[in-house]
Amino acid sequence: MIIDVHRHLVAAGTVQGDYIRGAQKSFAMMYRKTHNVDISDREFTQDVVRPLIDPQADNIIEEMDAAGVDKTIIFGVDYGLLFGEPPIHIFDQNKLYADAAKRHEDRLIAFMAIDPRRKGALKHCEQAHSEWGMKGFKLHAGVGYMPDDPVCNWVYEKAAEWKIPVLIHTGGAPSVALRWENSRPVHAASAAARYPEVDFIFAHCGDVGWWQEAIQAAAWLKNVYVDLSLWQKPYKKLPKKRFYQWLRDIIDIAGPEKILFATDAPYPNLMCPLKEWVQAFKERETDLEFSDEEINIILGEAAQKVLKI
Ligand SMILES: [Zn+2]
Repeated sequence: MIIDVHRHLVAAGTVQGDYIRGAQKSFAMMYRKTHNVDISDREFTQDVVRPLIDPQADNIIEEMDAAGVDKTIIFGVDYGLLFGEPPIHIFDQNKLYADAAKRHEDRLIAFMAIDPRRKGALKHCEQAHSEWGMKGFKLHAGVGYMPDDPVCNWVYEKAAEWKIPVLIHTGGAPSVALRWENSRPVHAASAAARYPEVDFIFAHCGDVGWWQEAIQAAAWLKNVYVDLSLWQKPYKKLPKKRFYQWLRDIIDIAGPEKILFATDAPYPNLMCPLKEWVQAFKERETDLEFSDEEINIILGEAAQKVLKI
């Protein structure tokens, strides 16, 4: 089974002003570099991102089918307290994600994106979990809190009670006011150490700058996993042997059962299509040895364990 543990829907009105401008700048720059094309930030949004609008996730299913991906975890982002509330409030966005997952019941699993400081967040998440069937939390501490701050405790307590994982952003951010320091894996590790009964997924495996911190946490703490979303960029950009040496290293240090295949689509899929990213694991262009068993664990079996499916 192949599972992508990190993906977003493209839906109008879900992110606000400054974030859109910053993200547009960063992702348009990556797109220009990858495809060697001359396209303005505005054209990128207009011609490349707009056609991806797919709030019910029908196109996502087609993309998954073409790439042989069986299941995908989807969630929004809660940046409202930092950038101002987007036209669709996060509580309604979570419902949008829950509805898309319900529409494609066997294929999509929705997590709740939440800023733990939000008024009414606990009540909302209780409903999202018990009535709408949402099966995990997604945190992005860069909006202004620390993952090991007591303000997050209720999230971890509910995750323990409901036996669901917490996926937390670790790594860099586009050129906007998100606080980088808060997204260092070391802070998420301190939270994970306090809640050993909760499974934590460190998104992006700490990204290219902090992967060692993320892997250190995964190696020390039984309940810490990493997702490989955003690593399409080094895979495409660097000589292949460097990517595979890195993959070999993280498997050797943390164990394949701690590593989860992921994309962070839509943007990274514009640089490296989903099918190609799956192939990067299945048909490896390298002399380094990887067993089929290790690859199968990373592509899906480890996620099955975390998701209890
Ligand atoms: Zn993401």
